[in-house]
Amino acid sequence: MSDAPVAVVTGGNRGIGLETCRQLAALGHRVVLTARDGAKGAAAARRLGAGAEAYQLDVTSAADAEALAAHLAERYGRLDVLVNNAAINYDTWQRVTTADLDQVRVTAETNLYGPWQLVQALLPLLRASRQARIVNVSSGAGAIDDLGAGTPAYSITKLALNGLTLMLARDLRQDRILVNAVCPGWVNTDMGGGGGRPVADGAAGVVWAATLPDGGPSGGFFRDRRRIPW
Ligand code: NAP
Repeated sequence: MSDAPVAVVTGGNRGIGLETCRQLAALGHRVVLTARDGAKGAAAARRLGAGAEAYQLDVTSAADAEALAAHLAERYGRLDVLVNNAAINYDTWQRVTTADLDQVRVTAETNLYGPWQLVQALLPLLRASRQARIVNVSSGAGAIDDLGAGTPAYSITKLALNGLTLMLARDLRQDRILVNAVCPGWVNTDMGGGGGRPVADGAAGVVWAATLPDGGPSGGFFRDRRRIPW
């Protein structure tokens, strides 16, 4: 079995997830590019070449999380990097006082419970790594001081994801698993809406947190390698 670090990225078929897969593969990681649409994931992994393999994973599915854990256990026996990147619903059309709470609940399934469930399912494999890292791709839209009335579903789920990051970091300290939240900034992807900076710049901060050396920070919120307020 190869010594290359094994990395799982959710929502790896496009946007920041795909670019994170590309950059990790370029650094020599064995990348498991996951996507909820198996065909899209397979096509994206093919474009990245031999360093990447596709795996079908909808982050809202407990069965998919368990199946991925079984696949990784059989193939690699460990997991070194988990990037919780997949997210939905930058709901610019809503305000907190009138928000559709069903939409908020659906958003939480992907943006909060998805990462939480995946960490739980993959934890035995992360514990089997000598240098495990978890990166939760978050957003400044979930920073407490910046909360406004807008994007309620998105902001509240990113705020909660930040809380989850801190709680996991504290609980996993004795396992020496580094857990951080990263805001990629405003990035030119489908979610970014056609503006923002190049996707490579947004993914670079995610890759930095995924490849921190031993003794690196844990329980932090970062953009472009610098701490930002929760
Ligand atoms: P994007 O272009 O909309 O891509 C989102 C990815 O998530 C897609 O691959 C999508 O898959 C996947 N996804 C959605 N629901 C899923 C599910 N249930 N299971 C598995 N995959 C699922 O978004 P992006 O801009 O690359 O954003 C990536 C991350 O950066 C997100 O966490 C986002 O909140 C964060 N972020 C982005 C910006 C920005 O300006 N773009 C700013 C701050 C934070 P499908 O192709 O199947 O839909």
